[in-house]
Parts: sequence; C-alpha cells; structure tokens
Amino acid sequence: MATNNRVSSDNGKPWLELQFRTENTVTRIHELDNQLTYPPAGKVQKDILNRVLGSLQGLAMGDALGAHVEFRPYHFLEKNPVEDLHSGGTWGLNKGEFTDDTSMALCLANSLVARKDFIPYDQLVRYKWWFRHGYMSSTGTCFDIGAATKRSLIEFEHRQQAFMKKSKFPKDKIDFVLSPDLLKKFNVDCSESDAAGNGALMRLAPVPLFFYRYPEYAVEFSGVSGRTTHGDQIAYDACRYYGALIVAALQGSSFEDLLDKNFYENHLPWFNNKPLHKEIIKVARGSYKKYGGHKDGIRGKGYIVQSLEAALWAFWANKDSFGKGALDAVNLGDDTDTTAAIYGQLAGAYHGFRNLPDKWMQHMYGKEFIHCLSQWIVYEGQNWSPDKSQTLIINLPSTQSQSNPIPTSSSTNKQNYPEHASASSSQVRPKSGASYANIGSTASSKDIQRQMSTPSGSTQLDNASSSFNTQQTQNRNTSQHSTTSPKDYNTAERKGSTFV
Ligand SMILES: [Mg+2]
Repeated sequence: MATNNRVSSDNGKPWLELQFRTENTVTRIHELDNQLTYPPAGKVQKDILNRVLGSLQGLAMGDALGAHVEFRPYHFLEKNPVEDLHSGGTWGLNKGEFTDDTSMALCLANSLVARKDFIPYDQLVRYKWWFRHGYMSSTGTCFDIGAATKRSLIEFEHRQQAFMKKSKFPKDKIDFVLSPDLLKKFNVDCSESDAAGNGALMRLAPVPLFFYRYPEYAVEFSGVSGRTTHGDQIAYDACRYYGALIVAALQGSSFEDLLDKNFYENHLPWFNNKPLHKEIIKVARGSYKKYGGHKDGIRGKGYIVQSLEAALWAFWANKDSFGKGALDAVNLGDDTDTTAAIYGQLAGAYHGFRNLPDKWMQHMYGKEFIHCLSQWIVYEGQNWSPDKSQTLIINLPSTQSQSNPIPTSSSTNKQNYPEHASASSSQVRPKSGASYANIGSTASSKDIQRQMSTPSGSTQLDNASSSFNTQQTQNRNTSQHSTTSPKDYNTAERKGSTFV
C-alpha cells in the first residue's frame, strides 16, 4: 500500500499515521504501543492532563459501556439494565473495545496533534482512512458508520477525485496535501445542509481539549468540526455549545456554573456573540433537568438535540459519580454508545481521569495510545496560539448582536431523527495578533479561511492551484463500503424525514 511510511505532516510521530500490517490489514492501535513517543518531561500540565485524559477516556468508556446494547430500546434496558462493562452483544466486541464514536474522535485528535492546528482537510482524510481501512478502529475494520457521515466521506472522496482529475494531481499524494494555497480552495463542508445527527457531537472533544486556552477559537472550531460531515445549523450550534461546556470544565468551572441556565449569556464572548439555534438555547436553559428521565421525555436517540439533552441529563443527575452517569446514559436505550460517549466527554473533563472507575479502566482498549495522545494534546495545545499560527485566518462575525443575542429561528420537527438509530470560568483571552485582529470585524458568512503552512520537506503543490469547490457529486449514495451497518439499514426506516 502506497500510504505506508507516509505522513500527512512533518510531525515526527509516524504512530499517528495510517500504517498497514499487511497489504489489506491496518496496524491495530495496541500494536502501536511500542512506537509511542512522548512530549518533553515536565512540559505537560498535570491538572489539565487529568481533565483531557478524563474527557477522551470518558468518551471511550461511555462508548464501550453502550456498545453491546446499541439499538436496544428503552423498554429492554428497563428490564435488563446495564450495570457493568460487557463483551458481545450488538457488535460482538471484546470487553472495553469501542465503536465509531471513539475511532472518529481519535482521528480528529491525531490530526490536531500531527498538524498542530485545525486543518479540516486532514481531519477528513483520517476519517476516510477509518472508513476505508479501519484506521483507529478497535477491531481493525470500520464495522459501523452513521448514514450522514458515510455520505459526507464519500462526497469527500469524490471531491478528491475531481481535484486530481482537474489538476493532474498524483493519486498517492492526495491525502498529504499541505499547500496553503491549495487547501484553502478545497470545500471541506461535505455534508448536505440538513444533516443533524449526533455523529457531529460524538467525536467532538479533541477540539475544545486542544484549543481551550482560546475559547473563541475552541467554540468556533467545535462548530466547524461538526459541519464537515453534518451540515445543519443545529449540529453546528450543538457542537459550539457542548464545546464551550468542555472548555469551561477544563478551566475548572463548578458543576453549578456549567449547568447554569444562563451559561450561554455568561460566556457570550466565547460564542463571538453569535446566536444559538433556539432548540440548542432551550437545552442550554435546562430542558434536560427532568427528574423522571425517560419518563419525562429524555431520549437516547440519534437526533443531535436529543443526544445533547440526554447526555446533559445524565451529567446533571449524577453530580458525584462518573460511572453512575455513564450507566444512566446507556440505560436510556437506543443509541446507547453515543449518548454515553457524548456524556463521557464532558463528565470526564469535569470529574477528571482519576475519578473514572478503575474496574472499567483496566479493560479499556487502546488506553496506552489514548494516554500518550492526551499528553500531546496538552503539549501542543499549550504551544498553539492564533498569532503564532501560520495555518489559518479566522473571521468571526460582527459583535453587533452582543447586546441582544437572538436565537436563530429556523425550526423543523426532527424529534424522530435517527442518525445512529435503529434502532471561571476564567476567560483566557487570545493575545492580539494579525489573525485575531479579524475577530469583531464584519466578516463573510464563511467563518473560516484556512491558510496552511508548508513544513520543510512537504509536498509542494502551489502550481496545482485550480479551484475545485465541486458541487455535491452525483451518485453520492453509491457506497463502496462492503459492510451493511444497522445504522444504514435503520435510516431507511425514517418516516418522511429528510435529515441524515
Ligand atoms: Mg458508536
């Protein structure tokens, strides 16, 4: 395979890249343990590492706890509640192995560390590696994928193909594009405009964990990270809100401050004064605070608003225990692993790694890799700043709405949306700098423009600068993926919904 021994940046960490054990099988995560390299001793803040590791491992733990009962309905779990980590079930995984939620989060985290920045193209490349080759899978194959994510990744492949054809770009280099002039012309928003599944939220944590020192960037990047595969404004705003909560948890916010009904208003600058969709505002103001849980309408479904609400309900109802909250999230039924994975991102950041249950932690797959990766997230996150970065310019909208943020008005009934279905807060301000100077200016509707650095020794592509903002490719539903995911199957069961 041509991608062996290639890296998508000059990062000195080949263990972050796609590697093949044989022509058709990837190197498993645990097989990379003897290749891991660590940041310089004493350069990683331990208190932050405790929260970063808590969040990432919390995500994986929630995912693993729910995996064996994924797609089981609430009424099954009401009679057969999950009380421990199990093997078998829906996917036949070993105890502690995780599903797509964690695999995609690891792809995202790997990209941030490898590129030392927020590069959506590279994130999509790694998602594609997972989809096609099983990169960062706990089993070595992609055995489950959400419908919207799958369509977006196929669209990304089509756009890569279109670019190669138009620019005569070499096929073996297309996943390793570094040229700023080239990448800024690639449209990375690969989703349809109405995809609002929880797939955007289930993988989110690495973004706020990496950029938490600059909340405005962390929050905006959170939204943009979801938009690559889920194009609905609701998904963008759900990711911005949850990203802000994770940032606040890393900064040591209290439980009460995190769940304050005025959290959005109290952190308005973090959101660059941009409004949140009214369904997300409703959640932020406490719609999840239901003592009856499922009986009061909390659902572990695939629609991103329901997932967000369910994860926050489990967190709110279990102030003193990560483990009980994770089980409550799973026992809502339906998209059990994803509800618990979303819960684990925030609850793990709040409680910290030291408070994750040892009895489950000892069984978790890939924990050495995740521990190492978390250290790099902290280290590279410490070194990142907007004005040092040469890889992007961020344009955030005007501050005109600061005095009167009004939730956006678009609203559609998506209550039965099943993507995955079957089934103080001290404010750290960015330093002034060229790139940050754009914040507060009136800007285009596109929030981000990327300018990428070109590390020494990288592929130079400046001559191939043809624009290739391709339209949504025809036949995008044509999948080359050989497996049939229950998630895809169940997508067909949606009744009249256009949301995927
Ligand atoms: Mg999953």
